[in-house]
Amino acid sequence: MNVMEESGLLVEKLEETLKHIKKLSMRTYLKFLPKIELHAHLNGSLNDKILKELGCEEDSIMQYKKLTQSIDKSDNTLQECFDVFKIAQNATKTQESVYLATKSVIEDFVRDGVVYLELRTTPRSEINMSKEEYIESVIRGIESLSGSKEKIFVKLILSIDRRHDKKTSEESLKIILKMREKYPNIIKGIDFSGNPNAGEFDAALFEEARKNGLKTSIHCAEIQNDDETKRILEFGPDRIGHATYLHPLYGGSQENWDLYCKKKIPVGNEPIQSLMFLCSL
Ligand SMILES: [Zn+2]
Repeated sequence: MNVMEESGLLVEKLEETLKHIKKLSMRTYLKFLPKIELHAHLNGSLNDKILKELGCEEDSIMQYKKLTQSIDKSDNTLQECFDVFKIAQNATKTQESVYLATKSVIEDFVRDGVVYLELRTTPRSEINMSKEEYIESVIRGIESLSGSKEKIFVKLILSIDRRHDKKTSEESLKIILKMREKYPNIIKGIDFSGNPNAGEFDAALFEEARKNGLKTSIHCAEIQNDDETKRILEFGPDRIGHATYLHPLYGGSQENWDLYCKKKIPVGNEPIQSLMFLCSL
């Protein structure tokens, strides 16, 4: 190898190293940049350490990690996403485990530089835990780390499960409103989430929630369902979530897109999908 070839190689290596350093410093910079997180699912945000502590098997932890930590989630099927939630739900069937899981999730967000977090979860009952106790446990986790003396403010959005019938959903709303009276500084809003192939949006129920002072942040257009997307947009939530099939280029209808542009409803999402969504505007 002659001098010219050697210096060429050196320059190449230097450029590669510089690229690497730049990348590292950007990561560090981004990590410490103060952030707000407006669309975090409690059951989709657990780390492997807490899953292990809560008694999860190694293969379930690997599956959970694979699906929640991959940057490109476009290949994940809906079923795979719900399998992830199932793993977390199985690990949090007691008040203590719900509390520990909530605390761990908030600690992770603090480490990532999040200063304002809106955590969302669906109240559920288990053999030894009522829906009220589930909510109390999440709030206990929030209260242990959130507030003016801490590095983060955490608010809670409680969800109505799409799989539930009208009566169960109405009961859930009553519980959410009752708990909001008790914790008005923490419980701020209501969501409609779960498997988008199940159930349908009930505008009257969410109107009732809105009349009682809850903000509405509704999962919308996660699958192609123009009728429901239209009803949600007409209702006019404070925010919508995901909106994957809202734009006509991604399977949405022009009518809904025009309605969305008129209503100007903010979209809350995971960063990579938000970026794709913004790019499509
Ligand atoms: Zn979501």
